[in-house]
Amino acid sequence: MYNFEFTRPTDLSVAVDALKTEGAQALGGGQTLIPVLKQRLAAPTTLVDLSGIESLKGIRRMGDMLVIGGGTTHGAVAGSGDVASAIAGLTELASKIGDPQVRNRGTIGGSIANNDPAACYPSAVLALGATIETNAREIAAADFFQGLYTTSLEDGEVITAVKFPIPVASTYQKFEQPASRFSLTSVFLAKMQDGSVRVGVTGAGADGVFRHEGLEQALSADFSASAVDGVSVSAQGMSNDLHGTPEYRANLVKVMTKRAVSALS
Ligand SMILES: Cc1cc2nc3c(=O)[nH]c(=O)nc-3n(C[C@H](O)[C@H](O)[C@H](O)COP(=O)(O)OP(=O)(O)OC[C@H]3O[C@@H](n4cnc5c(N)ncnc54)[C@H](O)[C@@H]3O)c2cc1C
Repeated sequence: MYNFEFTRPTDLSVAVDALKTEGAQALGGGQTLIPVLKQRLAAPTTLVDLSGIESLKGIRRMGDMLVIGGGTTHGAVAGSGDVASAIAGLTELASKIGDPQVRNRGTIGGSIANNDPAACYPSAVLALGATIETNAREIAAADFFQGLYTTSLEDGEVITAVKFPIPVASTYQKFEQPASRFSLTSVFLAKMQDGSVRVGVTGAGADGVFRHEGLEQALSADFSASAVDGVSVSAQGMSNDLHGTPEYRANLVKVMTKRAVSALS
């Protein structure tokens, strides 16, 4: 690690001010950032630890929305009765992230700000059409994820909450890479209130998370495994690495979508 200043404010406005310092960076649960610092791949001048800000934590239902604070841990989401009753797919997703240590520290804000192409949350955020609330504005999920490790967040902008529309039903089907436990290819599937079906895919795309329109159209018309069979999922644009070829990942998109359909049937 390189030397840096460290501050742990208890007030969001103090954190936002501290993040205006040249080279300052927010620290969520540290599950990604701390290893990055240890490898000297980043050199922030100041780390602004958000974990002391209570207003960033918590889960609440507001009408037809579920609002999760940006500093809420994966463990808190996994264990929440409000989440389980409103968006069961989010319970599945959060409970499958990493291991208990990672879930105890890692946060939803840190996960989507990082936008790792194999991270779990981006698939749910995109599939459900969530809104990302920051200290400065609201950002639609469709505008938020902008490719590998890239989002539309400005420097120093803090994710304060993620607002999820509550679907009729949802599920997260994860095919994990056994060593890292990140997604090799996973699917978040939601039946929305307007009758449409939405499919978010993580781990597969060379540009990160995406929705699969062909699967969405087929399943919105006919919610069945045979409808998935009728869709061609192209290997073009899929990741290619030592864990799997593009063709392997394209096949997994269909396999995991079928599992999602049978989980909700
Ligand atoms: C062994 C291991 C296994 C894992 N397995 C999985 C897995 O299966 N699925 C999965 O999805 N993830 C997995 N993760 C990653 C984990 O989910 C992390 O929680 C996540 O990547 C980062 O969240 P964090 O809160 O720890 O953020 P940090 O590591 O603290 O920060 C990550 C980035 O987000 C920024 N940031 C943090 N909080 C905010 C905020 N509120 N607003 C704006 N920017 C912010 C930071 O500045 C930094 O750039 C794993 C991690 C480990 C170590």
